[in-house]
Amino acid sequence: MKILQIDHLGIAVNSIDEGKNFWSGVLGLPFQGAETVSEQKVTTAFFPVGESEVELLESISADGPVAKFIEKKGTGFQHIAFRVEDIDAALRELKEKGVQLIDQEPRIGAGGARIAFLHPKATGGILVELCQRD
Ligand code: ZN
Repeated sequence: MKILQIDHLGIAVNSIDEGKNFWSGVLGLPFQGAETVSEQKVTTAFFPVGESEVELLESISADGPVAKFIEKKGTGFQHIAFRVEDIDAALRELKEKGVQLIDQEPRIGAGGARIAFLHPKATGGILVELCQRD
């Protein structure tokens, strides 16, 4: 597969409003608004950093994946997202290699990107997201 760059780093927070105080208020990263992805029970906010971004994730439901993550591990670094040229080809390749996936097929994430998650059991404990933007 062809990985083009680190697309973003995902950080689980209790509150995007509070998170904004540090990432925008202290570090000066531009805040470009928040977006709710109902299917994932999460509100996300992206802060551009050069070619990459910081993504804050706030759960909108106690049983969502981000709420469960915070329950187990606390707030903080949650996933790394790599931008790939062709996510369908990347997933095919990973399946051929027997890599455990959370998403067998790409789905639509924040900003309309096509995304898929690899299982942390297959990566040494880090949640890895692949992401294709057209
Ligand atoms: Zn992400």
